[in-house]
Amino acid sequence: MAHDYDLFVIGGGSGGVRAARVAAATGARVGLAEEYRMGGTCVIRGCVPKKLMVFASEFHEAMGDARAYGWDVPDGRFDWTAFRGKLHAELDRLESVYRRLLDGSGVDIHDARATLVDAHTVALSTGRTVTAKTILIATGGHPVVPDHPGAELGITSNEVFLLDQLPKSVLIVGGGYIACEFAGILNGLGVEVTQFYRGEQILRGFDGEARGLIAEQMRERGVDLHLGTNVLSMEKDGDGVRVAGSNGTERTYGAVLFATGRAPNTGGLGLGAAGVETGRRGEIAVDGFSRTNIGSIYAIGDVTDRVQLTPVAIREAMAFVETVFKDNPTPVDHDLIPSAVFTQPEFGTVGLSEEAAREQEPIEVYSTSFKPMHHAFAGRTDRVLMKLIVSKATRKVLGCHIVADHAGEMIQMVGIAVKMGATKEDFDRTVAVHPTMAEELVTMKQPVRSA
Ligand code: NDP
Repeated sequence: MAHDYDLFVIGGGSGGVRAARVAAATGARVGLAEEYRMGGTCVIRGCVPKKLMVFASEFHEAMGDARAYGWDVPDGRFDWTAFRGKLHAELDRLESVYRRLLDGSGVDIHDARATLVDAHTVALSTGRTVTAKTILIATGGHPVVPDHPGAELGITSNEVFLLDQLPKSVLIVGGGYIACEFAGILNGLGVEVTQFYRGEQILRGFDGEARGLIAEQMRERGVDLHLGTNVLSMEKDGDGVRVAGSNGTERTYGAVLFATGRAPNTGGLGLGAAGVETGRRGEIAVDGFSRTNIGSIYAIGDVTDRVQLTPVAIREAMAFVETVFKDNPTPVDHDLIPSAVFTQPEFGTVGLSEEAAREQEPIEVYSTSFKPMHHAFAGRTDRVLMKLIVSKATRKVLGCHIVADHAGEMIQMVGIAVKMGATKEDFDRTVAVHPTMAEELVTMKQPVRSA
């Protein structure tokens, strides 16, 4: 039977848009449905607006530094309304770029919600039903909030970009990427930030030494971080929210921001009708080629809950197109993914943490923490961290962890070397770039410990 499309993509985020465009470039007839705005979490309510907010929030500290370097600058005042207007104009521009790219690739765009009917059929909220030889689900995820009394009074990262005004004070709940990034952003923008994290240290799963340094410096910059602490209940108090904490505190905040994890968007998608299996958290179960248990249906990105990062979804999209449309079965490579957490200070990381590496094999740890030239001159006390985890047996660098300004930019480069299997001696024979912070990565001579 002839289908309407060779490929129908559900979801216009980073993964879905890339798959649709690249598949269409092979000559395939491609349709894509998006119920909200093109661009998905990354462009509309994630990485892009977040990074712009990080930039905005860093000027406060930069102005202090400028004075220390001899500039005559006043502290100034941050105008959220002016910034928000520009921010949303930029998001509108990016959304239209995404749309144009899809259009230009010959992809049929359906501004509609799509529901699976069977293994080859999709019903659209416009009333149309379409069929496709292959269906790709790339519907992403959404923030989840706890279910204690009053939790509905909180907001999530979805709403933070839309606020009419910044609150005077905020309680951020969670200790992951989003919680820690927004703690830095809002603190930098002049909001009084309290953060509750239920565990013993923020950024669970990352290198312990890096986590400790980031937490310490977040505190130094003014974030009131409470570990081993959670919200018991919340209630409305005037324009604010009164929060009872498990640490015995009771206080009213201008807003409460939940950054307590994300869950896959699989509800109401018709997965049952099509027979697609899901895992414990509702994620779509896929094999190494992103194929579900139904041969004609694939899934990529956050909806599969593998690694929730935009560049990974894009990789999965490219591997999917190679496999299905270029006759070149390509498994997705999820090994040694470099990433950055845009905390203040910034954190770049690739490979194993010291803790995970110790479990795996005997290691040497090379680590140095120092006041960088830029900060020292400005009279700031904060330190940076450069750390390498090295295999004793193979000498390979198993992990690299950087806490410093622009750590995200640095770890992208280190990621290449680590992915290539560089040894500590390869790092050592690379000449330092002086004077930089990153030169420490090639000048650490003695391990600080072995394990
Ligand atoms: P994370 O999974 O990173 O963190 C969730 C946090 O919420 C954890 O600290 C968790 O605690 C805590 N938590 C979960 N449930 C509760 C609860 N009921 N009560 C209190 N605390 C709770 O999720 P995020 O939402 O921060 O981010 C989602 C994903 O998005 C990330 O995993 C990341 O992959 C991606 N992302 C990447 C960014 C980047 O690359 N820079 C930026 C932002 C997001 P515990 O540790 O105890 O489980």
